[in-house]
Amino acid sequence: MVAATGLIAGVSILLPIGAYAATDDHGGAARNDGDQTAAIRESIVDGPAKNVILLIGDGMGDSEITVARNYAEGAAGELAGIDALPLTGQYTTYALNEDGTTNYASESASTASGWSTGTKTMNGSLSVDIHGNPQSTLLELAKANGLRTGNVSTAEIQDATPGAEVAHISARGCYGPVATTEDCASEALENGGLGSISEQLLTLRPDVVLGGGSATFTESAVAGDWAGQTLFEQATDRGYQLVDDAAGLASVTAADQSAPLLGLFTEGNFPTRWVGPEATVGGADLDPVSCTENPERLDTGLSLATLTDKAINLLSADTDQGFFLQVEGASIDKRDHAADACGQIGETVDLDEAVQSALAFAKADGNTLVVVTADHAHTSQIVGSTPPGLSVALTTEEGQPMLVSYGTAEAGESQQHTGSQVRIAGYGPGAANVLGLTDQTDLFFTSANALELNTDLTSLSAAATLVLDRPTVAPGGDFTATGAGLAADWRATGEVSTSAAADPLGVADVIDGQAVFTGTAPTEPGEYQVTLTGAQTGVSITTALTVTAAAATPAPTAEPTAEPTTEPTAAPTAAPSGTPSDAPTAAPAGGGSGAGPTSGVPVGAVMAVGGVLAATGAQVAPLAGAAALLLAAGGVLITMRRRRQGTV
Ligand SMILES: [Zn+2]
Repeated sequence: MVAATGLIAGVSILLPIGAYAATDDHGGAARNDGDQTAAIRESIVDGPAKNVILLIGDGMGDSEITVARNYAEGAAGELAGIDALPLTGQYTTYALNEDGTTNYASESASTASGWSTGTKTMNGSLSVDIHGNPQSTLLELAKANGLRTGNVSTAEIQDATPGAEVAHISARGCYGPVATTEDCASEALENGGLGSISEQLLTLRPDVVLGGGSATFTESAVAGDWAGQTLFEQATDRGYQLVDDAAGLASVTAADQSAPLLGLFTEGNFPTRWVGPEATVGGADLDPVSCTENPERLDTGLSLATLTDKAINLLSADTDQGFFLQVEGASIDKRDHAADACGQIGETVDLDEAVQSALAFAKADGNTLVVVTADHAHTSQIVGSTPPGLSVALTTEEGQPMLVSYGTAEAGESQQHTGSQVRIAGYGPGAANVLGLTDQTDLFFTSANALELNTDLTSLSAAATLVLDRPTVAPGGDFTATGAGLAADWRATGEVSTSAAADPLGVADVIDGQAVFTGTAPTEPGEYQVTLTGAQTGVSITTALTVTAAAATPAPTAEPTAEPTTEPTAAPTAAPSGTPSDAPTAAPAGGGSGAGPTSGVPVGAVMAVGGVLAATGAQVAPLAGAAALLLAAGGVLITMRRRRQGTV
C-alpha cells in the first residue's frame, strides 16, 4: 500500500499507513494484506513437478463459485480450498464443429477432451479429434511414462470428464457394450473398434479409479476375450480389486498395476450433499430458505475429499514414480441443469474440501502441481430482483437473502451451459502457466510439461525385449514368451510364424510393461519366429524358436523340477522387469541342435524416437490398426488364457 501524504501549511507530512488501513474506513472488503508482489513471486516455481493433481468442478463458472461462497462463507468470505490457490487466470472453453468451425457453447466431453489431450474437438466426442482420430490423454501418457495414475469422480466413472482421460469414442453416451453396439457401432469391439468407455477403462488399467457407474459393469461384453461375461467378471479376471462401499475402500492398503483399484459406489451418479427447493418462476419472491443435508448422501467415508485423500495416499505410497490424478466434482453441473441451487452449492463445497486435501498434500510434498478449474460455465446468476425466468431465494451464512436466477431454459427443461471463459487456478511447480488468458487445451501442455511427459508413445515401447524360456523346444512342447519394456502398450498380441504361415498366441494384458504368453510349439520341426506386438504402439519384437525332436520335453505328468539334462540350464527364472536397462542380455543356453542365430536374444524393435513435447497434441496413429489386430487375435485367446472365477 502506498503511504499517503498530506499537506499542512505547505509542509509534506508522511501519514501512518495504519490511519488509512483500518478496514472499517473502506467497508472491510479488501482481500489483499498489503502489497502482494513478494508473495506472488514466491508462489511462482519452475517445473518439473513430480505429481500433478487436476481438480475439476463440472460447470463451475465464476458465477457458481460466487454463489457457493456467498451462501457458505458470506460475500467477504473465502472458500478454504478453491480460493487459496495463489495463481489465477482465465481460460476459454469453446468447442469445434465437425467442419472445424467454432462452437461457442461447449459441453463436458469436448471440454474434458481439451485439457486431457490438448486437442479441441466436437461436443459429445471423447478424446478424438474432429476427424475421429484418437488423441493421447494425460492419464495415458502419464502411465506410459512410468507414472502412477488415478481418476476420481462423483459421477458415473464413464461420464464425460472422467471418460475423456480413459477412452477415445465419438459419443460420450457409449458407456458399455449395450449402448456401444447401438450408438457407436463402428467403435464396438465386435466391429474391430476400441470398445465402450468402460471396456477401454479396463484395458487402460489406471492404478486407482473411484466413482459411480456400477450399473454399466453388470453388462456383458459382446466380443473380445470376455464375450458373454459381465464387465465386473472381466475386471476380476484382469486382476482388479473391486470395492463398493466405504468399509471396503478403507480396507484397501495398496493399488498398483498388478492389482489396480476399481471402487464403484453407486449404480449411477453420487447423491448430492445438500438439497433444497428447485427454482421456479417467481421463486425469488418466496421467503428465503436454507439448504439442508441430503438424507441420501453417501457415507462421509465416500465424500470427494475422502476419495481424494485415499487416491493420493495410494498413488504416493512407497514409490518414487510420481503420479497424475484427476478429481471431478461432477454435480455442480448436474444440479445447475436442474435449477437446484442447494444441490449445486453443496457440490461446490464438497469440491472445495477435496481441493483442501490436494493442497495439504502438495504443500507437504513440495513437488506437486495442483490445478483447479472448470470444464465450462453454466446458467446460475446472482440477481437483485425477481427475474422473468426461474429463480430461488436463499438465506446466506450472513443471514442475507441471495436471489439466484436460472434463465436459459423453461421450467422442467434442462438449463443450458454458457460459453463464458472460466477460472483456472494453480499451486506448485509450473503453476505460472495458468496466469493470464489461456485456452483449455493449454492445460494439457501445462500438465504434460510439468511432468516432463514424452508424448511419443511409440518411442516409449521401442526398447521392448522378448525372451523365450525355451528357445529350442520339441514339437508340440510348451514354451513361455515374455515381452518386457512395452511401457506405452496396454495389451499385446503374440504369434508364432514362418515365412509361409502364422499361428496366433493370443492377446495378453501388459502389466508394468510386461506381457507373458504361454504357447504350444508347432508339431512340425523347423525354424520359427515368435513375435509380440504392442496393441497401442504397433511396436513388434521378434525372436527365434527352434522346434526339433532332439529337444526333449517333460512328460505331461512329470514333476516340473525333474527336467532332463538336455533342457536349457540357464533359462531365466525371473521375468524381465519393465525397464529396458534391466532387460536380460544373456541368451539362455540353447539345447538341442540348430539354435537360430538370435535364439533367446532379446531383439528390440527399432522405431523412430520422438522428441519432447511439441506444440501439438500427440496422435495415436497406430491405435485403430492395432485394435483391429487385437480383435483378429481375440477369438483364439479364449483357449489360451488361464481364467479365474469370480464375480462381484
Ligand atoms: Zn452439463
